[in-house]
Amino acid sequence: MKALWYYKRMDKLIVLLDADDTLLDFSKSENEAIKKTLAEFSIPVTQRIVERYVQINLHCWKLLEDGKITRVYLDRLRFDMLFEEFGIKNKDSVAAGAAYRAHLTESGYVLDGCVSFLEEISKKYRLFLVTNGTQPTQIVRLKSAGIEGYFEELFYSEQIGCAKPYKGFFDYVFSHIAGFDKDRTVLIGDSLTSDIAGANNAGITGVWFNPKRLPLSNRAVPDYVVSSYEELVSLLGSLDEERKDKAI
Ligand SMILES: [Mg+2]
Repeated sequence: MKALWYYKRMDKLIVLLDADDTLLDFSKSENEAIKKTLAEFSIPVTQRIVERYVQINLHCWKLLEDGKITRVYLDRLRFDMLFEEFGIKNKDSVAAGAAYRAHLTESGYVLDGCVSFLEEISKKYRLFLVTNGTQPTQIVRLKSAGIEGYFEELFYSEQIGCAKPYKGFFDYVFSHIAGFDKDRTVLIGDSLTSDIAGANNAGITGVWFNPKRLPLSNRAVPDYVVSSYEELVSLLGSLDEERKDKAI
């Protein structure tokens, strides 16, 4: 027989959180990592090349989300594209991809207010991390940011073999959460195409974290949209109350 605390814990709201640009300041880490990589490969670091890298990287991640490329190919493709566009010859895009990933691992920064947000919600709900990043990179960044301890478990797409927004990713996650219940599970993320489309595919509540107040697209339908951690705390509070009322 399980102890009463077990059932009390199992009854809590299950909150799945995306990592990059939901908790971690990806842009800051990305910017540092690309500058270090270019310098290492003796490529002049200009604002233009850094900006183009950011755009190309985003494009490559969309290709991954659409199932058009693999995660391993993504690492070299972004440098193949960058080198071609800037006429950079005789540079090894595979080595550049590996160097970039190594530099990305060196630093993890949280978004403003993230730690107090996690501190507050971790007292009330069960938290799980769901990220399309790779395990070695993300774990170091989360530790460096000091936030890995807030999660009951961390789920990485590379380890699962399937990425958000695909249902396979969520099937794996759901089957590895003890006492899982779809009706009291919420996913919070900044990406419409991976997080919110994923929540839609998996049939759970999707909360779009949108501090930049970007326009909605027709690729996914969030159940809720918030622009700050304060709004998130209050939304989770009301969802939790609503759920308890239904249970009674
Ligand atoms: Mg994200």
